[in-house]
Amino acid sequence: MLEPAKRYTGYRSYSYLEEGRDYRSFQLAPELDRVAPYQGPELSTADRQRVQRLLTDNIVVSTHDHPSRFPGDITETIDYNRTGRHRTGYEGLARSGMTAVFDNFMDGTACVTSQAGWKWTDVIADLGLRFSDLAHQDFVIKAETVADIHLAKETGRIALIAGLEASTPIENELDRIDILHGFGVRQLGIAYSESNTLGSGLKERRDGGLTVFGRRAVERMNRLGIIIDVSHSGDVTSLETIQHSTKPILITHAGARGVWNTNRMKPDEVITACAERGGVIGLEAAPHTTLSHQHPQHSIESVMDHFVYCVDLVGIEHVAFGPDTLFGDHVGLHDLFAGALSLGEAHAGVEYERVPYVDGLENPAECFWNIVAWLVTHGYSDDEIRAVIGGNAMRVIEEVWT
Ligand SMILES: [Zn+2]
Repeated sequence: MLEPAKRYTGYRSYSYLEEGRDYRSFQLAPELDRVAPYQGPELSTADRQRVQRLLTDNIVVSTHDHPSRFPGDITETIDYNRTGRHRTGYEGLARSGMTAVFDNFMDGTACVTSQAGWKWTDVIADLGLRFSDLAHQDFVIKAETVADIHLAKETGRIALIAGLEASTPIENELDRIDILHGFGVRQLGIAYSESNTLGSGLKERRDGGLTVFGRRAVERMNRLGIIIDVSHSGDVTSLETIQHSTKPILITHAGARGVWNTNRMKPDEVITACAERGGVIGLEAAPHTTLSHQHPQHSIESVMDHFVYCVDLVGIEHVAFGPDTLFGDHVGLHDLFAGALSLGEAHAGVEYERVPYVDGLENPAECFWNIVAWLVTHGYSDDEIRAVIGGNAMRVIEEVWT
């Protein structure tokens, strides 16, 4: 973990209001050191300086995270989410080394008015309240252009890129894609686990591919300059999206089925098609997803088995990191929302060993330090590291947004 960014002056979410009077108070999990610090391999002084320099000198992009704070007692999350007011983890972000982060908000766990998630009203509440909070401070900026990301780098800020993991809230309204773009959303998933009007999600037994409406939605996203994500879409839907899109896409957070055989991982065919069109796969680290037979206890080592596999398969210029972390008990959150997140179906009956957290990739504050340290100690060059921690994602961002 890095020293806190100088630009961060200690702002806390919604501190312009009165907690307990204007909005409900929750005891939140700490942003730093919620779990024991990662005991990775000992770094030499030279390696430590190199990690520091790589994170300081380059644009670092997480292609997928949820950098919000969750209640210390994770079972309070449904009540917390119902208020619509997720607290951004500014203090943790200030130590993350990230220049830009694709923040995917509450997604299917937004339950302001609904128990089932993904409602338009709830998604708008989630976006609006978070954006309003962002507008009351000066450290994390809402990124809508490539210039915003460069500005963040040059001025010691962090660029927050708003995304949603599925287009389910647009229902059958193409113009809602424009509305989301107008609000600042710059990345959209096609379908989450369940199918929607665009295509099939990964838990469905039959994948009907991209629908006629889905094709029009992809065209609209291309025209507006919204990055398309298929992390939670079915294989056929993913392939047809990649083929139909005139712009490269991001698989913002997934792993390789060749390493771990579940629906949540992408088959070689999808990863290769994505790369052939200029796209990038960001490696996922949410608990119990990117496991491997070499490292069956989920940790940074298991995630890196997926990294090595994808680099072998499609080349280092098509791989990035979307660790999918948050500030709080992610395993507890999965248990709480197991139905909404379709975790049983995603694991497809594959047995796995449970861990309390993913050692080395537990929260947004520690991910990139540990990833770069791993790359440095495994013989990767500065150019290779620069590409996977941000350069590759920036190439796609520039191509899609401009
Ligand atoms: Zn996800």
